Amino acid sequence: MSEKKLLLKEAPLLEVKNLETAFDIDGTYYNAVDQVSFTVKPRQIVGVVGESGCGKSVMSLSIMQLLPKGVGKVTSGEITFDGLNLEKMSEGQINKIRGKDISMIFQEPMTSLNPVFTIGYQLMEVLFNHLKISKREARQKAIALLKSVGISRPEKIVDEYPHQLSGGMRQRVMIAIAIACQPKLLIADEPTTALDVTVQAQILELLKDIQEVNDMSVILITHDLGVVAEMCDEVMVMYAGRIVERTDVDTLFYNPKHPYTTLLLGAIPKMDDEEERLSSIQGIVPSLTNMPVTGCRFANRCPKAMPECFTITPELRETDPGHEAACLLYETSKPREGVNK
Ligand code: SF4
Repeated sequence: MSEKKLLLKEAPLLEVKNLETAFDIDGTYYNAVDQVSFTVKPRQIVGVVGESGCGKSVMSLSIMQLLPKGVGKVTSGEITFDGLNLEKMSEGQINKIRGKDISMIFQEPMTSLNPVFTIGYQLMEVLFNHLKISKREARQKAIALLKSVGISRPEKIVDEYPHQLSGGMRQRVMIAIAIACQPKLLIADEPTTALDVTVQAQILELLKDIQEVNDMSVILITHDLGVVAEMCDEVMVMYAGRIVERTDVDTLFYNPKHPYTTLLLGAIPKMDDEEERLSSIQGIVPSLTNMPVTGCRFANRCPKAMPECFTITPELRETDPGHEAACLLYETSKPREGVNK
């Protein structure tokens, strides 16, 4: 049986059901993530794509229980990881899981690494938090981890400070910290966006190698569909806090259903593109305080919008086996004229 079919048969490692996360703006809570449901299977790499402000990062911070206190909160839904309901856990219980069973890496390692501590100190801190280990063993493990993420001269780097390293090396250090306790799930939020193209490719290759060696699941958040094509098994496209399309990576690229996905794909630069200007999506994602109350949230940017799109809210529903889209073009049993088949 193929690896893909085996994946489909396994129970999910992570199950998110009807997640809603809201932020307090001037005393009123607005949903940044709205009715989001999905699963991640063991060893699966799930991509989450969309423009800035689509709710991708808020969704991952909700899973990690890292929303800014007093500002953001999960208002409804369930997050089940490895059979445990994360929403019902105390801060102490979550702390045991975070960094050990679920880890996260962010876009800019300089903001995640502490500038006043050495690389070794920061790696060893994670090890001490989750493993019963001596100082000597922790230092040896820190050096081995640095080596495993492709850092040369790890015995020297372990005593250096973040500002002494290049951006690519800092991101490698962040990956070493994230995988220190061999997590079952890694959430990577735009892990290569701040890096130049060559280093980006190296970091993505490293992540893929580690995922295979450690049998890890990955949620990869990115605005870059090229990264998704390289890395992912499944993809969720998010727009204005909601999932608007979900399917496997090949289907998304060859048979996108949602007009937003089609426009995102059209915005990917192509090597043989003779047109000087890349197609880009007109308009901007609505802000939290300006979200349409009814209808499709993409309606005012959608080239296929119909009058009913402004009044009827599309549900995420199956358009083909294993392919879901939230678009009124697919709400009847047959696709309407002009729709991808
Ligand atoms: Fe466009 Fe209407 Fe579909 Fe929304 S529901 S994506 S506005 S066609």
